[in-house]
This record gives sequence, C-alpha cells and structure tokens, in this order.
Amino acid sequence: MSELHKFIFDGLPVRGQLVRLTDAWQEVLRRRAANTQTGAYPPPVAELLGEMTAAAVLMQGNIKFDGALVLQIMGDGPVKVAVAEVQNDLRLRATASIVGAVPPGMTLTQMVNAKGLGRCAITLDPRSRREGQQPYQGVVPLNDERGAPLLDLAGVVEHYMRQSEQLDTTLVLAADEQVAAGLLIQRLPGQGQDNLARSNVLREDEPAALADDDYQRIAILAKSLKREELLGLDADTILRRLFWEEQLLRFPPLQGAQGPRFACSCSRERVASMLRGLGKEEADSILAEQGRIEVGCDFCGNQEHFDAVDVGRLFTPAAQQSPQPKSVQ
Ligand SMILES: [Zn+2]
Repeated sequence: MSELHKFIFDGLPVRGQLVRLTDAWQEVLRRRAANTQTGAYPPPVAELLGEMTAAAVLMQGNIKFDGALVLQIMGDGPVKVAVAEVQNDLRLRATASIVGAVPPGMTLTQMVNAKGLGRCAITLDPRSRREGQQPYQGVVPLNDERGAPLLDLAGVVEHYMRQSEQLDTTLVLAADEQVAAGLLIQRLPGQGQDNLARSNVLREDEPAALADDDYQRIAILAKSLKREELLGLDADTILRRLFWEEQLLRFPPLQGAQGPRFACSCSRERVASMLRGLGKEEADSILAEQGRIEVGCDFCGNQEHFDAVDVGRLFTPAAQQSPQPKSVQ
C-alpha cells in the first residue's frame, strides 16, 4: 500500500517526511504500458518520473494549500515534458512525453538538459480560481548557481527549494518498476533571525548557532540512505536505522483512502469544453479529415470519441438541445 509518513525531531527546528508509492506508482506504469500508441516508459524515464512523483507528494505534504502541486520538467533532450501532479488530498497522476530514443543508463542531463536549456517548474494551482487569478509558478534551470548541470532530481528540487523558497532541504529519491520512494528533511520555515531566537528560547542551555548543526547532522544521516534501502525497506525500518539516536515524533501514517493514490481528473466534459475552445470550424475540419475526433488522456490513457452528431451538439446552444445525460468520469 502507498503511504506517507510525517515526523518531527523533538525540540529541533527540523522536520521530515518519508513516502513510499507502491500500488499508486504501479498503476501509473500499468496504464502507460497499456497505451498502444506509446508503449511502456523506457527504464530511465520511468525512474525519473517515479522520483518526480515521490518528490511531488513530499512537497504537497509540506504545504497547506487547497489545490494541486504540479512538478514539471521541460526538457531539451529526448524527454520533452515530464509532469507529476498531486492534489492536496494526495490523489496523484504523472506522465511524460518522449520524442527520441532513451537507451538504458541514460542520465538526467542526457534526457532533459542535453543543451543546458532544461527547466524545472513547480506550480501551485488553486482548486477554485478567482476570475483572472493565475496559478503560482516558480521556475529554475537544471543547473546550479555556477552553471554546472544538476545530476539528479533530488539535486534539482533541493536547488529549487533554496532558490525559490529559501528553505534548506535534503532529499533522497529512488524509483524502479515497483516502488517510487523519497525521504525529505527540512529546516523549519522561518529559520532566520527570528527562528534562531525562538530556538534559543526552546533550548536555553545551547547557543543558537547549534540549531544549524542539528539540521546538518540529520541531513547527513538522511543522505547516507542508499537507493536499495529506500526501495526495499519498510518505513519503520528506514527511520529506525537512520535516526535511532534522535528523538523522533511520528504522526499517524497517511495511507489507503487518506494516502497517496492514483486518480485522474480528466472527463468527457473537459474534452468537450476544450473542443468548444478550438471552435466549430477547426472541429469540423478534423471531422472531415478523420471521420471522428479522438482525444486521449496522457495521464490515464482514457480515449474520448466525438462523432459528427456529438460535435454538432457541442456547438448548439444548450436551450435548443434535448436533455442528455451528462457523462463524466
Ligand atoms: Zn485521464
């Protein structure tokens, strides 16, 4: 079962999360493999997308926000776009579009930053948008402050958190065909003068500067977690092995109906409104060329078909239509 664990280090300005996606991640891969147009993801893309999905769950788990968190990479190599989207109730979906060969062992840089033009964007898309309101978006290059390419997704997200959120974050990510998992350690937000003063109050026996050392020590422990351990061990074992000398306060795990799970928000209604946006002329010309309009969902593989009658109805004012049952997935 897929699960998200949250914890804090008692008395220290450090918090953490551990996510393990099993069934939810396997569902993403199964649907892609069943798509006859694309086929299954090449292993390096599956690994990247799995890490992105785990990272997106960790970032969504970190914020209080009524809407979707979308982690996106716009690549300049054979992987053009990779997207992981997580709702605030932890429903998730992910997809990638590939335009060239991705042989086994291809690196992140080769896949999405071949010419140094790759970008990573994090978007917070509110559930109910006010008129004219734009979603919040932060974008970072896939290179560090000195222009050197970031070698893995964990490095990209850490870079983003430093640049955009001014938050010290340590991430360990891993994914294979069965599991997508991640560990996040973060200095509590607001850690500056104010927060140092606060930790001073909390721990009068220690100089404030030592609060830094707590985060550093815990980050180093987190980074010692190996890929095979993150993929193969259960959450309790991982946390015990890494932090047995720390005072860990754990919250009840989020799993099952409260946990990370696959769900796609696509619907026939949304495709219909997209077609209305295209306009009658464009829709009619696709109909003339292909006999019917087919629109597939990249996230879940659903196919929607609109024939001439459906399209005619789309562009008929509602008042003139006979009542139709709404079909919404
Ligand atoms: Zn869908």
